[in-house]
Amino acid sequence: MSAEPLRLSRSGHQPVRVSFEFFPPKSPEMEASLWEAINRLAPLRPNFVSVTYGAGGSTRERTHNTVARIIKETDIKPAAHLTCVAASREEVDEVVRQYWQAGVRHIVALRGDPSGGLGTRFEPHPGGYASSTQLIKGIRAIADFEISVSAYPEKHPESLSLEQDLDALKAKVDAGATRAITQFFFENEHYLRFVDRAQASGIHIPILPGIVPVLNFNQTAKFASQAGASVPQWLAERFAGLDQDVSTRRLIAAAVAAEQVLDLVDHGVEDFHFYTMNRADLVYAICHLLGLRPNYQGGSHVIQ
Ligand code: FAD
Repeated sequence: MSAEPLRLSRSGHQPVRVSFEFFPPKSPEMEASLWEAINRLAPLRPNFVSVTYGAGGSTRERTHNTVARIIKETDIKPAAHLTCVAASREEVDEVVRQYWQAGVRHIVALRGDPSGGLGTRFEPHPGGYASSTQLIKGIRAIADFEISVSAYPEKHPESLSLEQDLDALKAKVDAGATRAITQFFFENEHYLRFVDRAQASGIHIPILPGIVPVLNFNQTAKFASQAGASVPQWLAERFAGLDQDVSTRRLIAAAVAAEQVLDLVDHGVEDFHFYTMNRADLVYAICHLLGLRPNYQGGSHVIQ
Protein backbone atom coordinates (compact mmCIF):
# COMPACT_ATOMS: atom_id res chain seq x y z
CA MET A 1 0.00 0.00 0.00
CA SER A 2 1.37 3.44 -0.78
CA ALA A 3 1.20 5.94 2.09
CA GLU A 4 -0.46 8.55 -0.07
CA PRO A 5 -3.60 9.66 1.70
CA LEU A 6 -3.28 13.03 0.06
CA ARG A 7 -6.24 15.12 -0.98
CA LEU A 8 -7.09 18.78 -1.38
CA SER A 9 -7.03 21.37 1.36
CA ARG A 10 -9.11 24.54 1.66
CA SER A 11 -6.72 26.30 -0.68
CA GLY A 12 -7.26 23.46 -3.13
CA HIS A 13 -3.69 22.25 -3.52
CA GLN A 14 -1.91 21.49 -0.33
CA PRO A 15 -1.72 17.80 0.54
CA VAL A 16 -2.26 16.70 4.14
CA ARG A 17 -1.31 13.58 6.06
CA VAL A 18 -2.98 12.42 9.23
CA SER A 19 -2.23 10.06 12.09
CA PHE A 20 -4.51 8.87 14.86
CA GLU A 21 -3.87 8.09 18.51
CA PHE A 22 -5.78 5.43 20.43
CA PHE A 23 -5.55 4.08 23.95
CA PRO A 24 -5.61 0.36 24.75
CA PRO A 25 -9.06 -0.87 25.85
CA LYS A 26 -9.77 -2.08 29.38
CA SER A 27 -12.84 -4.22 28.70
CA PRO A 28 -14.43 -6.17 25.83
CA GLU A 29 -16.94 -3.31 25.36
CA MET A 30 -14.13 -0.78 25.09
CA GLU A 31 -12.29 -3.08 22.71
CA ALA A 32 -15.37 -3.23 20.48
CA SER A 33 -15.66 0.56 20.35
CA LEU A 34 -11.92 0.93 19.70
CA TRP A 35 -12.18 -1.38 16.71
CA GLU A 36 -15.26 0.39 15.46
CA ALA A 37 -13.18 3.59 15.51
CA ILE A 38 -10.16 1.96 13.84
CA ASN A 39 -12.34 0.46 11.09
CA ARG A 40 -14.03 3.79 10.45
CA LEU A 41 -10.78 5.75 10.30
CA ALA A 42 -8.54 3.20 8.54
CA PRO A 43 -9.99 3.83 5.05
CA LEU A 44 -8.70 7.43 5.39
CA ARG A 45 -5.26 5.84 5.07
CA PRO A 46 -3.48 7.42 8.03
CA ASN A 47 0.26 7.74 7.85
CA PHE A 48 0.33 5.75 11.11
CA VAL A 49 -1.82 5.09 14.16
CA SER A 50 -0.34 5.13 17.64
CA VAL A 51 -1.35 3.27 20.79
CA THR A 52 -0.61 4.81 24.19
CA TYR A 53 1.14 3.20 27.14
CA GLY A 54 -0.60 3.52 30.50
CA ALA A 55 0.95 5.40 33.39
CA GLY A 56 3.54 3.25 35.16
CA GLY A 57 3.49 0.68 32.36
CA SER A 58 0.05 -0.45 33.50
CA THR A 59 -1.06 -1.26 29.95
CA ARG A 60 2.07 -3.08 28.76
CA GLU A 61 0.13 -6.18 27.69
CA ARG A 62 -2.88 -4.31 26.35
CA THR A 63 -0.76 -1.88 24.33
CA HIS A 64 1.17 -4.79 22.86
CA ASN A 65 -1.99 -6.76 22.06
CA THR A 66 -3.67 -3.79 20.42
CA VAL A 67 -0.64 -3.01 18.28
CA ALA A 68 -0.25 -6.70 17.36
CA ARG A 69 -3.91 -6.88 16.30
CA ILE A 70 -3.53 -3.75 14.16
CA ILE A 71 -0.62 -5.43 12.37
CA LYS A 72 -2.53 -8.68 11.94
CA GLU A 73 -5.88 -7.33 10.84
CA THR A 74 -5.22 -4.08 9.00
CA ASP A 75 -2.60 -2.68 6.68
CA ILE A 76 -2.06 0.53 8.64
CA LYS A 77 1.28 1.11 10.29
CA PRO A 78 1.14 1.14 14.09
CA ALA A 79 3.37 3.06 16.48
CA ALA A 80 3.66 1.78 20.03
CA HIS A 81 4.09 4.32 22.85
CA LEU A 82 6.65 3.31 25.47
CA THR A 83 7.78 5.01 28.69
CA CYS A 84 10.69 4.63 31.12
CA VAL A 85 8.42 4.46 34.19
CA ALA A 86 8.56 1.63 36.73
CA ALA A 87 10.68 -0.74 34.66
CA SER A 88 14.35 -1.70 34.48
CA ARG A 89 16.31 -1.25 31.26
CA GLU A 90 16.20 -5.00 30.72
CA GLU A 91 12.40 -5.02 30.97
CA VAL A 92 12.03 -2.07 28.61
CA ASP A 93 14.54 -3.57 26.17
CA GLU A 94 12.57 -6.81 26.19
CA VAL A 95 9.37 -4.94 25.31
CA VAL A 96 11.25 -3.23 22.47
CA ARG A 97 12.55 -6.57 21.15
CA GLN A 98 9.06 -8.08 21.32
CA TYR A 99 7.73 -5.15 19.28
CA TRP A 100 10.39 -5.67 16.62
CA GLN A 101 9.60 -9.39 16.47
CA ALA A 102 5.87 -8.60 16.14
CA GLY A 103 6.63 -6.42 13.11
CA VAL A 104 6.39 -3.02 14.81
CA ARG A 105 8.80 -0.50 13.29
CA HIS A 106 7.77 2.73 15.02
CA ILE A 107 7.93 3.64 18.73
CA VAL A 108 6.75 6.83 20.44
CA ALA A 109 9.47 7.13 23.10
CA LEU A 110 8.55 8.97 26.28
CA ARG A 111 9.92 9.48 29.74
CA GLY A 112 6.43 9.18 31.22
CA ASP A 113 4.81 10.85 34.20
CA PRO A 114 6.28 10.47 37.70
CA SER A 115 5.03 7.33 39.49
CA GLY A 116 3.89 9.56 42.36
CA GLY A 117 1.54 11.40 40.00
CA LEU A 118 1.64 14.74 38.22
CA GLY A 119 3.34 17.46 40.21
CA THR A 120 5.69 15.07 42.01
CA ARG A 121 9.35 14.63 41.10
CA PHE A 122 10.25 12.02 38.48
CA GLU A 123 12.35 9.30 40.10
CA PRO A 124 13.78 6.85 37.60
CA HIS A 125 13.41 3.17 38.35
CA PRO A 126 16.72 1.90 39.82
CA GLY A 127 18.44 0.42 36.80
CA GLY A 128 15.86 1.95 34.48
CA TYR A 129 16.16 4.54 31.73
CA ALA A 130 16.26 7.94 33.44
CA SER A 131 15.03 10.09 30.55
CA SER A 132 13.42 9.93 27.16
CA THR A 133 16.81 10.69 25.59
CA GLN A 134 18.30 7.60 27.25
CA LEU A 135 15.31 5.54 26.13
CA ILE A 136 15.77 6.67 22.53
CA LYS A 137 19.44 5.65 22.65
CA GLY A 138 18.42 2.28 24.12
CA ILE A 139 15.86 1.67 21.36
CA ARG A 140 18.36 2.71 18.68
CA ALA A 141 20.85 0.20 20.08
CA ILE A 142 18.30 -2.61 19.65
CA ALA A 143 16.93 -2.07 16.15
CA ASP A 144 16.36 0.51 13.46
CA PHE A 145 12.99 1.81 14.64
CA GLU A 146 11.35 5.00 13.52
CA ILE A 147 11.19 7.03 16.77
CA SER A 148 8.68 9.75 17.53
CA VAL A 149 8.83 11.90 20.66
CA SER A 150 6.72 14.47 22.50
CA ALA A 151 6.95 18.26 22.22
CA TYR A 152 5.27 20.94 24.29
CA PRO A 153 4.37 24.21 22.52
CA GLU A 154 3.43 25.79 25.86
CA LYS A 155 6.31 24.00 27.66
CA HIS A 156 6.15 20.90 29.80
CA PRO A 157 4.78 21.62 33.30
CA GLU A 158 8.07 20.47 34.91
CA SER A 159 10.16 22.64 32.65
CA LEU A 160 11.48 26.02 33.84
CA SER A 161 11.35 27.63 30.41
CA LEU A 162 10.59 27.06 26.76
CA GLU A 163 14.34 27.22 26.10
CA GLN A 164 14.84 24.25 28.41
CA ASP A 165 12.14 22.38 26.52
CA LEU A 166 13.75 23.18 23.18
CA ASP A 167 17.12 21.97 24.50
CA ALA A 168 15.43 18.75 25.66
CA LEU A 169 13.82 18.30 22.24
CA LYS A 170 17.15 18.93 20.51
CA ALA A 171 18.76 16.27 22.74
CA LYS A 172 16.02 13.81 21.71
CA VAL A 173 16.62 14.57 18.03
CA ASP A 174 20.39 14.18 18.47
CA ALA A 175 19.72 10.80 20.14
CA GLY A 176 17.76 9.63 17.09
CA ALA A 177 14.17 10.91 17.19
CA THR A 178 12.77 11.42 13.71
CA ARG A 179 9.43 13.09 14.45
CA ALA A 180 7.82 15.06 17.29
CA ILE A 181 4.13 15.11 18.17
CA THR A 182 2.90 18.01 20.26
CA GLN A 183 0.80 18.14 23.35
CA PHE A 184 -2.62 19.49 22.35
CA PHE A 185 -3.16 23.25 22.24
CA PHE A 186 -6.06 25.53 21.37
CA GLU A 187 -4.31 28.69 20.19
CA ASN A 188 -2.47 27.96 16.95
CA GLU A 189 -0.05 30.77 17.70
CA HIS A 190 1.53 28.63 20.43
CA TYR A 191 2.28 25.86 17.93
CA LEU A 192 3.40 28.10 15.07
CA ARG A 193 5.75 30.06 17.32
CA PHE A 194 7.12 26.84 18.82
CA VAL A 195 7.88 25.40 15.37
CA ASP A 196 9.65 28.63 14.38
CA ARG A 197 11.74 28.56 17.56
CA ALA A 198 12.52 24.88 17.14
CA GLN A 199 13.77 25.47 13.60
CA ALA A 200 15.82 28.44 14.78
CA SER A 201 17.36 26.10 17.39
CA GLY A 202 18.45 23.66 14.70
CA ILE A 203 15.56 21.19 15.11
CA HIS A 204 14.53 20.08 11.65
CA ILE A 205 12.39 16.98 12.21
CA PRO A 206 8.62 17.22 11.47
CA ILE A 207 6.69 18.55 14.49
CA LEU A 208 3.11 17.31 14.15
CA PRO A 209 0.39 19.35 15.84
CA GLY A 210 -1.59 17.20 18.30
CA ILE A 211 -5.27 18.01 17.84
CA VAL A 212 -7.83 17.09 20.46
CA PRO A 213 -11.53 17.36 19.61
CA VAL A 214 -13.25 18.67 22.75
CA LEU A 215 -15.87 16.00 23.39
CA ASN A 216 -16.25 16.98 27.04
CA PHE A 217 -15.13 20.52 27.85
CA ASN A 218 -14.84 20.10 31.63
CA GLN A 219 -12.77 16.94 31.30
CA THR A 220 -10.54 18.48 28.64
CA ALA A 221 -10.01 21.63 30.72
CA LYS A 222 -8.99 19.53 33.72
CA PHE A 223 -6.58 17.48 31.66
CA ALA A 224 -5.21 20.64 30.02
CA SER A 225 -4.40 22.22 33.37
CA GLN A 226 -2.40 19.11 34.36
CA ALA A 227 -0.69 18.91 30.98
CA GLY A 228 0.32 22.57 30.89
CA ALA A 229 -1.94 23.47 27.97
CA SER A 230 -3.84 26.73 28.32
CA VAL A 231 -7.60 26.88 27.79
CA PRO A 232 -8.59 30.23 26.30
CA GLN A 233 -11.62 32.07 27.61
CA TRP A 234 -13.26 32.01 24.17
CA LEU A 235 -13.22 28.21 24.25
CA ALA A 236 -14.89 28.10 27.67
CA GLU A 237 -17.53 30.53 26.38
CA ARG A 238 -18.30 28.36 23.36
CA PHE A 239 -19.13 25.42 25.59
CA ALA A 240 -20.78 27.40 28.38
CA GLY A 241 -24.28 26.21 29.26
CA LEU A 242 -23.98 22.99 27.22
CA ASP A 243 -23.11 20.54 30.01
CA GLN A 244 -26.44 18.72 29.59
CA ASP A 245 -26.66 19.16 25.81
CA VAL A 246 -24.43 16.54 24.21
CA SER A 247 -25.61 16.95 20.62
CA THR A 248 -24.98 20.71 20.53
CA ARG A 249 -21.64 20.18 22.26
CA ARG A 250 -20.61 17.78 19.49
CA LEU A 251 -21.50 20.31 16.81
CA ILE A 252 -19.52 23.00 18.60
CA ALA A 253 -16.59 20.60 19.09
CA ALA A 254 -16.55 19.85 15.36
CA ALA A 255 -16.71 23.56 14.51
CA VAL A 256 -13.88 24.44 16.92
CA ALA A 257 -11.59 21.67 15.67
CA ALA A 258 -12.41 22.43 12.03
CA GLU A 259 -11.54 26.08 12.55
CA GLN A 260 -8.27 25.10 14.20
CA VAL A 261 -7.07 22.63 11.55
CA LEU A 262 -8.13 24.77 8.59
CA ASP A 263 -6.24 27.72 10.06
CA LEU A 264 -3.17 25.49 10.43
CA VAL A 265 -3.57 24.38 6.80
CA ASP A 266 -3.61 28.05 5.82
CA HIS A 267 -0.30 28.38 7.69
CA GLY A 268 1.20 25.60 5.60
CA VAL A 269 0.80 22.70 8.04
CA GLU A 270 0.59 19.37 6.20
CA ASP A 271 0.65 16.75 8.98
CA PHE A 272 -1.91 16.36 11.75
CA HIS A 273 -2.01 13.99 14.69
CA PHE A 274 -5.45 13.45 16.21
CA TYR A 275 -6.07 12.39 19.79
CA THR A 276 -9.14 10.30 18.95
CA MET A 277 -10.17 9.19 22.49
CA ASN A 278 -11.05 5.95 20.64
CA ARG A 279 -13.97 7.65 18.90
CA ALA A 280 -14.14 8.16 15.20
CA ASP A 281 -17.01 10.45 14.29
CA LEU A 282 -15.60 13.89 15.03
CA VAL A 283 -12.14 13.04 13.75
CA TYR A 284 -13.64 11.49 10.62
CA ALA A 285 -15.61 14.68 9.95
CA ILE A 286 -12.56 16.88 10.47
CA CYS A 287 -10.51 14.69 8.12
CA HIS A 288 -13.29 15.01 5.55
CA LEU A 289 -12.96 18.78 5.85
CA LEU A 290 -9.23 18.40 5.31
CA GLY A 291 -10.07 16.75 2.01
CA LEU A 292 -9.44 13.14 3.00
CA ARG A 293 -11.77 10.57 1.47
CA PRO A 294 -12.04 6.89 2.25
CA ASN A 295 -10.36 4.48 -0.07
CA TYR A 296 -12.32 1.28 0.06
CA GLN A 297 -10.64 -0.30 -2.96
CA GLY A 298 -10.46 -3.94 -2.05
CA GLY A 299 -11.73 -3.11 1.42
CA SER A 300 -8.40 -4.24 2.77
CA HIS A 301 -8.31 -1.72 5.60
CA VAL A 302 -11.43 -3.00 7.22
CA ILE A 303 -11.51 -6.19 9.23
CA GLN A 304 -14.45 -8.39 8.41
P1 FAD B 1 10.61 14.65 28.03
O1 FAD B 1 10.32 15.19 26.68
O2 FAD B 1 11.75 13.77 28.17
O3 FAD B 1 10.70 15.79 29.06
C1 FAD B 1 9.67 16.78 29.15
C2 FAD B 1 10.29 18.09 29.57
O4 FAD B 1 10.78 17.99 30.91
C3 FAD B 1 11.48 18.45 28.72
O5 FAD B 1 11.08 19.14 27.61
C4 FAD B 1 12.36 19.23 29.67
O6 FAD B 1 12.02 20.57 29.61
C5 FAD B 1 12.02 18.66 31.01
N1 FAD B 1 13.08 17.71 31.38
C6 FAD B 1 12.97 16.37 31.42
N2 FAD B 1 14.14 15.82 31.82
C7 FAD B 1 14.98 16.84 32.03
C8 FAD B 1 16.33 16.94 32.46
N3 FAD B 1 17.03 15.86 32.77
N4 FAD B 1 16.87 18.17 32.57
C9 FAD B 1 16.15 19.25 32.26
N5 FAD B 1 14.88 19.23 31.86
C10 FAD B 1 14.30 18.05 31.74
N6 FAD B 1 2.43 9.43 28.91
C11 FAD B 1 2.24 8.10 29.15
O7 FAD B 1 2.34 7.66 30.32
N7 FAD B 1 1.91 7.23 28.14
C12 FAD B 1 1.81 7.64 26.86
O8 FAD B 1 1.51 6.83 25.97
C13 FAD B 1 2.01 9.03 26.56
N8 FAD B 1 1.94 9.49 25.29
C14 FAD B 1 2.19 10.80 25.03
C15 FAD B 1 2.18 11.25 23.71
C16 FAD B 1 2.41 12.59 23.40
C17 FAD B 1 2.39 13.03 21.96
C18 FAD B 1 2.68 13.52 24.45
C19 FAD B 1 2.91 14.97 24.14
C20 FAD B 1 2.73 13.08 25.77
C21 FAD B 1 2.50 11.74 26.08
N9 FAD B 1 2.55 11.25 27.40
C22 FAD B 1 2.33 9.91 27.65
C23 FAD B 1 2.80 12.17 28.52
C24 FAD B 1 4.28 12.20 28.96
O9 FAD B 1 4.65 10.93 29.43
C25 FAD B 1 4.43 13.23 30.08
O10 FAD B 1 4.22 14.53 29.62
C26 FAD B 1 5.72 13.13 30.88
O11 FAD B 1 5.60 13.95 32.03
C27 FAD B 1 6.95 13.57 30.14
O12 FAD B 1 7.40 12.61 29.26
P2 FAD B 1 8.15 13.11 27.91
O13 FAD B 1 8.75 12.00 27.19
O14 FAD B 1 7.26 14.01 27.20
O15 FAD B 1 9.33 13.92 28.63
